[in-house]
Amino acid sequence: PVPVVAVVGRPNVGKSTLVNRIIGRRQAVVEDVPGVTRDRVPYDAQWNGRRFTVVDTGGWEPDAKDRAAAIAAQAEIAVQTADVVVFVVDVTVGATDVDEAAVRMLRRSHKPVILVANKADNQNLELEAVSLWSLGLGEPHTISALHGRGSGDLLDDILNAL
Ligand code: GDP
Ligand code: MG
Repeated sequence: PVPVVAVVGRPNVGKSTLVNRIIGRRQAVVEDVPGVTRDRVPYDAQWNGRRFTVVDTGGWEPDAKDRAAAIAAQAEIAVQTADVVVFVVDVTVGATDVDEAAVRMLRRSHKPVILVANKADNQNLELEAVSLWSLGLGEPHTISALHGRGSGDLLDDILNAL
């Protein structure tokens, strides 16, 4: 079976932008409005000759109600059915309470997690990522999904974790 990589994180951190970067085309819907991706959306991907499935999810929020709760439930299912989880944080915002709650959910899943510090568009923002060590998920992978910075190294590490 083709291995599955789930991309999760708060709304608007750049999950869909990263998914598009990984699949090499603009297929996942990117929006300035949070919460556009509702379900788990799988895409075929390939890197260094290895095939895998990357799953885009809507934003994960704890204690969400109604529609937001349904979106969060889909993200949790994506985590449960993944071989590796890519957890995306917005480095321009830093780790929030919601990020920390997501980390607790990820811990319970016992899945391998790769921490991504997205929106590190320049060197100053890359340095900001050191604060994300506090999440306890190891080294933050600084990337700019929008500009492609760091995405090759990230893909190498994703495949190493599979
Ligand atoms: P999602 O809700 O987590 O899927 O986030 P999206 O991929 O839809 O992106 C939300 C917003 O963040 C959009 O306006 C993106 O263009 C923007 N964005 C995503 N990645 C980056 C990045 O690396 N740098 C910057 N500056 N903006 C980004
Ligand atoms: Mg999205």
